[in-house]
Amino acid sequence: MSEASTARERAAELEREAVTYPEDRGEIFLEAAEEWKRAGEPERAVALWREVISAGGDDAGYARYNWAEMCFEQGRDAQAWEHLRALEDAADAGVAGLVAELLAERGDDEAALRWFDRGIGALGDDEVAATGTSGAAPSIHAPLFFGRQACRRRLGLPVDRWDRVAEVADRNRVDFVRRLERTVSIVRPPLSADATTMLVWQRAERERAAARWPSVFRVETDHHQQVERRLRDVCEEHGLTKVTLVLGSADGFAAYLETEGGDPAEEGVRLAYAERAKEQGRRLVWPPGRNESCWCGSARKYKKCCGDPRSVS
Ligand SMILES: [Zn+2]
Repeated sequence: MSEASTARERAAELEREAVTYPEDRGEIFLEAAEEWKRAGEPERAVALWREVISAGGDDAGYARYNWAEMCFEQGRDAQAWEHLRALEDAADAGVAGLVAELLAERGDDEAALRWFDRGIGALGDDEVAATGTSGAAPSIHAPLFFGRQACRRRLGLPVDRWDRVAEVADRNRVDFVRRLERTVSIVRPPLSADATTMLVWQRAERERAAARWPSVFRVETDHHQQVERRLRDVCEEHGLTKVTLVLGSADGFAAYLETEGGDPAEEGVRLAYAERAKEQGRRLVWPPGRNESCWCGSARKYKKCCGDPRSVS
């Protein structure tokens, strides 16, 4: 079956679903509209967006955004801007963030910045404060601050109060990734050496991941030494002699995101990938023999690399 006919069937199925679940009608119509678009029948998508907009509520903003996006794709910029203007006073933080990202992608940093400001302005003071609190869990609102900070940098604007929120949120995110890399072994109490697994990124994959998701993964020169220390601590704490390493891969993570969806900046998404990699990823047993290749993927002998007592003591 062609992609278009699959999308068409899926759209029709969603429309039937909307009858069964009237309380989720807006959300289901938004999904169906995307399928109609994919099926090459944009006029049917437009018909659904119109309905969602006339029903009002949160979904209406997303419908308007999706419609504007399609207008840009079709080269009908004036109409796209009209939709965005209609959103100006109604957009919540989520929709405003999407509009901002869309405009930034189109290279219109000044307009994007206004939408980032509008999105952050729609948050409560407590949400802004929580996002900028050092040591806090990654905030779902952090991408608004990151996107805004990137725009302001490109525009050569000085660091301001919300840029400082972005800086703190970025540190919180990096700390979170470090915790994630421990999570697989710590989530469940280990039953045996075989049951103890840890997600790790070898050097090349970690660099690939950092290139792809620069705000999520950061290249740090001593990263693998830190992991080695953690592995030793885990073994000591639980009386283990070996740990199974599950190797994360940038392509695997990208494929996971493509099939399952989600934002790599979100905690839940990365944790779910860690679980998936545990089932499907390549594995290695730690520690390797002293004269074997190091687990970190450096191509050096373990004893000369992460297993060098001078580097881990
Ligand atoms: Zn190594």
